Amino acid sequence: MFGICSQQGEILYESSVHTRTVLSPEGLAKSIHDHLEEKNLLNCIRAIGIGAPNGNNLSSTIEFAPNLPWKGIIPLGEIFENAFGVPVSVTNDANAAALGEMVFGNAQDLKHFVTITLGTGLGSGIIVNGELIYGHDGFAGEYGHIQVIPDGRLCGCGRKGCLETYVSATGVVRSIAELQSVSKATSVLIEKNVTSAREIFEYADAGDQFAQEIIDYTAEILGKSLANFACFSSPKAFVLFGGIAQSGEKFASKVKEHMEANMLNIYKNKVEIRISSLHNVNAAVLGSASLVWSK
Ligand SMILES: [Zn+2]
Repeated sequence: MFGICSQQGEILYESSVHTRTVLSPEGLAKSIHDHLEEKNLLNCIRAIGIGAPNGNNLSSTIEFAPNLPWKGIIPLGEIFENAFGVPVSVTNDANAAALGEMVFGNAQDLKHFVTITLGTGLGSGIIVNGELIYGHDGFAGEYGHIQVIPDGRLCGCGRKGCLETYVSATGVVRSIAELQSVSKATSVLIEKNVTSAREIFEYADAGDQFAQEIIDYTAEILGKSLANFACFSSPKAFVLFGGIAQSGEKFASKVKEHMEANMLNIYKNKVEIRISSLHNVNAAVLGSASLVWSK
């Protein structure tokens, strides 16, 4: 997905190209370039921000990205600079979301916060003193891979018990099979063969007890984890972003409850849980564009 965004956060144009249909990163840059040239939009581009899985801001590369057809270390920033002739900034998608929240979203009043993006996996972007934390090599803020359950579920990273194996769209679905054997609640999740997090949330809203148990379980693991994460940077808020987070206030308030119950005294009742305000507009485009404006 790509778009053109004004400094005021207005998306002037957007479109998409599937990364599977282009054979190389150079081919991706060229196809976007040619598309915008055809629409007569090249002249208005001053800089480019790219948010991509495993995008590294320090080296302007994507490194061993999952779900992308190109393997190894790809100098994506350089490739786009060559194609467009403007400055290019690269970061990972969760970091882009954090910047988007600070520049255009629900954290414009904050200098210390953490975004938690809940999609297929769990991403995080840590803002301290109004700046994104990149760490010594550009990969700071991988909260999704903090191991929260000893010897727990196998994660895509090869280790066990990572937060994202429980708290993500796929994690919520994995909870169906795991909790089914211990739950006494009545439910239609099994007979309806529910296989999406969205449906689980809908059934929970409609009063399905087992679906509610799954959501409580998810909120508890996330809430406890956020209580731990608060110790690291003392954020003013955690901003939840993504389908699960934005399914309503109920999930967020349960997360808050569990976070407070597990919080160290000095942080109690000081850390907000906010829900991203970027869901109605295109957060991917705005987040990546904020990379440029935040420089
Ligand atoms: Zn992991």
